[in-house]
Amino acid sequence: MTQFDYDLFVIGAGSGGVRAARIAAKHGAKVCVAEEYRVGGTCVIRGCVPKKLFVYASKFAEEFEDAVGFGWTTEKVSFDWQTLLENKDKEIDRLNRAYIKNLESSGATLIQERATIVDKNTVQLASGSKITAKYILVATGGAPMVPRHLPGHELAMTSNEAFHLERLPRRIVIVGGGYIAVEFAGIFNGLGVETILVLRGEQILRGFDDDLRNHLAAEMIKKGIEIKTKADIAMIERSGDGVRVTLEDGSQIGAGQVMFATGRMPNTHGLGLENVGIEINMHGAVPVNEFSQTVVDNIYAVGDVTNRVNLTPVAIREGHAFADTVFGNKPIKVDHSLVPSAVFSQPELGTVGLTEAQARKLHSKIDIYKSTFRPMKHTLSGRDERMLMKLVVNAETDVVLGCHIAGPDAGEMAQLLGIAITCGATKAQFDATLAVHPSAAEELVTMREKWQG
Ligand code: NDP
Repeated sequence: MTQFDYDLFVIGAGSGGVRAARIAAKHGAKVCVAEEYRVGGTCVIRGCVPKKLFVYASKFAEEFEDAVGFGWTTEKVSFDWQTLLENKDKEIDRLNRAYIKNLESSGATLIQERATIVDKNTVQLASGSKITAKYILVATGGAPMVPRHLPGHELAMTSNEAFHLERLPRRIVIVGGGYIAVEFAGIFNGLGVETILVLRGEQILRGFDDDLRNHLAAEMIKKGIEIKTKADIAMIERSGDGVRVTLEDGSQIGAGQVMFATGRMPNTHGLGLENVGIEINMHGAVPVNEFSQTVVDNIYAVGDVTNRVNLTPVAIREGHAFADTVFGNKPIKVDHSLVPSAVFSQPELGTVGLTEAQARKLHSKIDIYKSTFRPMKHTLSGRDERMLMKLVVNAETDVVLGCHIAGPDAGEMAQLLGIAITCGATKAQFDATLAVHPSAAEELVTMREKWQG
């Protein structure tokens, strides 16, 4: 007989929390999950899923244009934002219900209330009742970071609100140059909104391979997106129906909306971490060891609240590993070193492994294979868009260290390349692989000439 109400109490029913709860329950643990908002977390409710649906919606504009070269007549096409919002909301509701059902059918108890930590074995619900558990898992995710020092910051929205805009603005200013900024720039631009990206750095997507960054920026500009680099916002003011944005150089931009895509912060506020002596680190995150364990031996944390690699599949892997470690008698450390990822920008990016710059720092001799070409579809559509593929190879061992792609289905390719690169594939093995023809991906196994920078 356990002295606690539950073996595991999970705070937060997002990707990491739900996976941990389900696997722990499968291992025989008595599990309770508390969620103050909707089950599914950022990814399902206001992140990856609705974002990808918006990306699909925004791509039709170009599809209709491209169809003409293939003989189609596409006059009188029109777009209705409300229809998109309603259909997107229905799908999110469906997923939300599916998450609840899966959680409950695993045997876990779901409490739709906020929970805070009182002591190392006790949490308190918003309604006042206290629950005890042998282990506590913090899986509270993150939230958009807004530069609150900025005069007029309250006039701007974040990606959270972008999913529920009453109507599309005629022009939008997006602040930031990361994943969310470039993805939403593509969405708004595709839906006919004049889009201006304002970022403080020299190029979008800091941390990605430089060729990929430059390629994407050039393609986005071709599509009509304005990118203002080395630009800082000084203030935002209301102006008529919209806003006026003043940059540090004194220039001003009028727009219907401003959106901050300036990073995300771990959700730790008001969690009661101080009651158990857990101090957040300089990034506002809960520090954990390689088993996702905090300084308190029975309290663990997974996902964005730990600010390791803030991606859904990583949170899921961390949640699963935690449950196997603690309840499955199978200690597992999550390897964060090789994480394939996609940016659903337009064109899309897919990437896995080291960038050229990272590889040059770590290895003495690097070979680069690089190809840019016009996708076959655009020979008839006439669209001026190019694809980029790049392999980063260790010249001494022939191992492929990184692969970076910009173009249609780049994310799908990154998933499969992730297998090859995780297995330590060599360039010779890429070369020995037969091509799929005609495809864009065949370029990955047919590049023979080293790039002579
Ligand atoms: P990112 O960390 O990717 O980018 C933040 C951007 O905001 C950077 O360009 C940064 O500039 C800039 N910035 C930060 N603070 C300020 C400031 N005070 N003023 C002006 N600019 C600022 O964050 P995102 O919000 O785009 O995304 C958050 C996370 O969500 C990502 O890191 C990713 O892990 C995840 N995500 C993943 C997606 C995917 O897998 N497809 C999609 C969307 C999100 P600088 O570079 O100069 O620091």
